[in-house]
Amino acid sequence: MAVIRIHEIIERLLIYDPQADADLVNKAYVWSATLHKGQLRASGLPYLSHPLEVAGILTELRLNAPGICAGLLHDTLEDSSTTLEELHREFGKEIAGLVDGVTKISMISRASRPQAQAENFRKMILAMAEDLRVILIKLADRLHNMRTIDYLPEARRFRMAEETLEIYAPLASRLGIYWIKSDLEDLSFRILKPDLYFRLVKQVAQIHRAQQAGIEEVQSVLGQKLAAAGIEAQVEGRHKPFYSIYHKMETHKLSLDQVHDLVAFRILCQTIRECYEALYVIHSFWAPVPGRIKDYIALPKPNMYQSLHTTVIGPGGQRVEIQIRTQEMHLVAEFGIAAHWRYKEGGALAPEADDKTLGFVKRLVELQKELHDPHQFLESVKSDLFPDEVFVFTPKGDLRELPKGATPIDFAFSIHSAIGCQCAGARVNGRIVPLNYNLQSGETVEIITSRDAHPVKAWLDLAKTAQARNKIQHWLHGREVGSSEELGRQILEADLLRYNIHLDRAIKSGVLGRVAKQFKFTDHQKLLQAIGYGKFPHRKVLARMVPHDRLRRQRLAGPPSAKRKAPAQAPAEPTLPEGGLVLQGFDDPLIEFGACCSPLPGDEIVAFTKEGQGVEVHRPQCARAREADPDRLLPVHWGERVKGIRTVTIEVLCADRPGLLAQMGGAISEAHGNISRALVRTTDDQKAVNTFEVEVKSAGQLRRMIKKLEKIEGVISVERLKA
Ligand code: MN
Repeated sequence: MAVIRIHEIIERLLIYDPQADADLVNKAYVWSATLHKGQLRASGLPYLSHPLEVAGILTELRLNAPGICAGLLHDTLEDSSTTLEELHREFGKEIAGLVDGVTKISMISRASRPQAQAENFRKMILAMAEDLRVILIKLADRLHNMRTIDYLPEARRFRMAEETLEIYAPLASRLGIYWIKSDLEDLSFRILKPDLYFRLVKQVAQIHRAQQAGIEEVQSVLGQKLAAAGIEAQVEGRHKPFYSIYHKMETHKLSLDQVHDLVAFRILCQTIRECYEALYVIHSFWAPVPGRIKDYIALPKPNMYQSLHTTVIGPGGQRVEIQIRTQEMHLVAEFGIAAHWRYKEGGALAPEADDKTLGFVKRLVELQKELHDPHQFLESVKSDLFPDEVFVFTPKGDLRELPKGATPIDFAFSIHSAIGCQCAGARVNGRIVPLNYNLQSGETVEIITSRDAHPVKAWLDLAKTAQARNKIQHWLHGREVGSSEELGRQILEADLLRYNIHLDRAIKSGVLGRVAKQFKFTDHQKLLQAIGYGKFPHRKVLARMVPHDRLRRQRLAGPPSAKRKAPAQAPAEPTLPEGGLVLQGFDDPLIEFGACCSPLPGDEIVAFTKEGQGVEVHRPQCARAREADPDRLLPVHWGERVKGIRTVTIEVLCADRPGLLAQMGGAISEAHGNISRALVRTTDDQKAVNTFEVEVKSAGQLRRMIKKLEKIEGVISVERLKA
């Protein structure tokens, strides 16, 4: 087999990118040749044939020059003496970064992983590759390795085919690169189920031979009828890939002759209008099979695929499957994301700047509105491709999914709270890292524990996951509870001593316990904690334990206790008697909701004690909450009974268009919100910023309101202002 030559690669590159740096590609080629010198492929060919073929495949995906260079160099980090620094020096950050990304992916997939985690691995690969070209290079690499798989020993063949079917073919599918997906599937199918594969190949060939005349007839009838209707279109017959046939037979329990789309016809038109006209023309001479018409033009698939599909009863009563699309849609169908996105200088993936593609995305959103929530749709496309997660391994190779920015603290608590609470340090890929280290996908993390280690306040800033934060807070609060109990004990003890009452004895005899119950505390510890926190005036306890006349005498002589800690003012009436807020350990706390962030029932909330004056409740992202001393944090959550109305501020960015304000007002009142203030300001670029102060009862209500606002045509974004 002839290996593609470098000048052919450069020729192809210059066709779609005339400005491409051919010298750089040549240099990458020379480097790759030198570095792989003397190495052989399993096929016996010089190793260089592999990076050349990979680069050749990449020209079919129309990668730019740096992408092609990275394709030529993709195995040098792993299989030669060069280093990342050297590549960086010789080829710059972009190319070195791409090669590094491809190498990292190879490292992960080399280790054997349980099948159930295939989906996670696909996500991980997507997450790791901040530059989509890394995945395209990896797919090209895998495609060429699969094409030459016969030279490998059987065991390796099997494993590689399995991995390809589980990880790489679905990746290609998710990116919409149809031809790579079906090539990878068929190549894997042949290795994994050779008997089935070869039998199917033979049977399909027989059917095709038998149907050849029919296929040609369909093709020529379609061509003539469309031409007669004045539609300029290209008609082609396409053989369904073997793995797709097999998959269809398996999932629908069909025999081969029940699969009607062994050959599908494809009609490529010039315009969308002609696509619909073509559909109409075809249905006028061949009857459509009911329920088989699919309009993926109006409702594209999430990977951007667009086409009209129909099945008709063709010549001789045969079912005929037909796909109709424009040339542009065809490009997307074959090349997926690679067709519609191009790469910004510096390697970051960016949507094409020209209006055509932005228009395409907008149209997509527009069309999706009919069936789905467009924001959800975009969000799902985005999160499919760029999950905000990192995937790391335990030393045993188990996978942990953590949010981006997670630290070893999060990892430690994700394993076990005991490990988290004794976390003294961490090793990442064998190297000691600080606890504020940001974990990266693919890393192996090992936690160093110590009996002496324990959570400290600063960890709350390091922890990204709610799980870790809760456990740290819980631990710190446990200490706080202990110390507030101690403080309460001291306060009470000193005062009781003035009346010759010993606190210890009052506790042992159960006197304090009874007093606690009179005040609706479950036990005397809770009472002491409340006193220590300043939540409960200790004088009330004195009044129950000391005879009144003695108390009065003492009061005339001056306050019974010196000014210690001063937690003992009688609490004022709570600003909002919230039956709906549950604060652990306190029955009737004095609660103040931060006006800065106005937390709503249903919002995530944090509470902390204000010394001697009750409890403040804020949303966690509020600056006040972030500045609060973590030692004063209290566990808090919303109860079931929720009352009270609060005001929140939302900002709506929309087109500057008459009537929109009225629509927005309508949406807000539809969600039972009450506008207490509205402010509209227009911007230079024909937009309007509307600031609404709205009275709402719950976070759920606010969410519904925001959804309604977002649905209004012309509304660009809706945001709840933080503070
Ligand atoms: Mn390779």
